[in-house]
Amino acid sequence: MTELSGGPALPQERRVVTSVPGPKSQELMARKQAAVADGIGTVMPVFAKRAGGGVLEDVDGNSFIDFGSGIAVTGVGNSADAVVRRASAQLAQYTHTCVMVTPYEPYVEVCEELARLTPGDHAKKSALFNSGAEAVENAVKIARSYTGRQAVVVFDHGYHGRTNLTMALTSKNMPYKHGFGPFAPEVYRVPVAYPFRWLTGPENCAEEAAAQAIDQISKQVGAENVAAILIEPVLGEGGFIEPAKGFLPRLAQFAKENGIVFVADEIQSGFCRTGQWFACEDEGIVPDLITTAKGIAGGMPLAAVTGRAEIMDAPHSGGLGGTYGGNPVACAAALGSIETMREMDLPARAKRIEEVMKPRLRKLAEQYDVIGDVRGRGAMLAIELVKPGGKEPDPQVTAALAKSCHEQGLLVLTTGTYGNVMRFLPPMVIGEDLLEEGLDVLEGALAGL
Ligand SMILES: *Cc1c(COP(=O)(O)O)cnc(C)c1O
Repeated sequence: MTELSGGPALPQERRVVTSVPGPKSQELMARKQAAVADGIGTVMPVFAKRAGGGVLEDVDGNSFIDFGSGIAVTGVGNSADAVVRRASAQLAQYTHTCVMVTPYEPYVEVCEELARLTPGDHAKKSALFNSGAEAVENAVKIARSYTGRQAVVVFDHGYHGRTNLTMALTSKNMPYKHGFGPFAPEVYRVPVAYPFRWLTGPENCAEEAAAQAIDQISKQVGAENVAAILIEPVLGEGGFIEPAKGFLPRLAQFAKENGIVFVADEIQSGFCRTGQWFACEDEGIVPDLITTAKGIAGGMPLAAVTGRAEIMDAPHSGGLGGTYGGNPVACAAALGSIETMREMDLPARAKRIEEVMKPRLRKLAEQYDVIGDVRGRGAMLAIELVKPGGKEPDPQVTAALAKSCHEQGLLVLTTGTYGNVMRFLPPMVIGEDLLEEGLDVLEGALAGL
């Protein structure tokens, strides 16, 4: 049995013993303010001391129920046993050789696992990188090299990172892009099927959005100029938007018909998060390329592009890489993380989290008019907060709700193009008692608004 970790004595409980933030965190925040660039923001101003299973303990002795997983990263829990065991052993053996200088087995093993785990039974290859943004950049490089075309199609509310190319691919200006231009060219943004906000209602959303997107691609860009269509199967930073059923398959089919590389960005939705190994499995989509990061290695920095061997092999030898990409310690951590996912059947646990949380969130939506929508799958769930009686986004109430949860020992994150979505990303190893207790806190915070 794989143990939840974070140290053997880390109690799986919510415990608030000081004001939030407590005195020690406040002292550290002052030091952060003096030494760390203002651009590095803070969601919850407490400093971490230990974390594991479903909780995060701060330097003042407060213990928070973790509904964030460090933004969908520690799905297997913080310092999960198998991650610590494998990464520690690797750390003692060698820390870096650079895969482009002398390769090492853990890198190959991770790529073999990715070939087994990702959708489709075609021949696959992978390349490893350090961050999600880097994986997305490389997916674009690979697609351009394979097709000999330049244009990249992305979607409203999409998020793909903060580097120059990925800023261009990302939809939302503030805080991701504002003041950081000029952005990379040959990026085209088209509508996505966002059921809750589709003007003619959710019923025809998939069909209408797909028609609009395809029309824009065909008429404004020219399908024959498009290297890649890049989409998150569940849009993360855009607000946990599940594209209306039928939208993704239509776009994938259009890509296939036109020799366009279909790229699923599963950096947030991947690795068991939505109750399946990858979210695109939900509609049976087999992407040409898939980008992964966040949940892959239990918190160690690792990212990957995985896809059809003939596409992955398009760039010339030496055309892909980076000094640290696929670092051996991060690869060992990924193997430990994947081992944990298999052993604990995390897709099933994510589904169970949905079973526990969604009915309660739906009930809260009936009770509180500020909740306009409840959505998501598995352990990737959200509520969208609106001005009562309509759909006008309410980012203020969303921020107030998050702050109130934080003060009562529940770590939650907000998101969304309009800043009005509260998202729930618990570690998939979280205990059911903590899940229920976290929802109690949320309920109390809603009552206290
Ligand atoms: C977080 C995220 C990225 C960027 O990953 P980084 O590791 O922060 O560079 C890209 N795409 C999606 C869908 C993400 O959620």
